[in-house]
Amino acid sequence: MGMKERKNELGRRYARLLVIADAGTSDSGHAMWLALCDCGERVEVAGVDLRSGHVRSCGCLHKEIAAERMRAVQVLAVATKRGKRK
Ligand SMILES: [Zn+2]
Repeated sequence: MGMKERKNELGRRYARLLVIADAGTSDSGHAMWLALCDCGERVEVAGVDLRSGHVRSCGCLHKEIAAERMRAVQVLAVATKRGKRK
């Protein structure tokens, strides 16, 4: 067969994602993998994105970072208010 060699990512872990199944090949010819995220979500990810570190979660990581930033801003706002009270 003239198929491109496909790296086996099964059972590998990339940050929060654990590769649990082969998800075939995408329209653009990328090897796709089904990965289980630590949060319980399942996502299909291209092997290149996993290896490059481009994709590290189902998307929950980004949401958490955004939430973390919001918290930091709120803490700062509270601290500023307290400072003015003196
Ligand atoms: Zn997740």
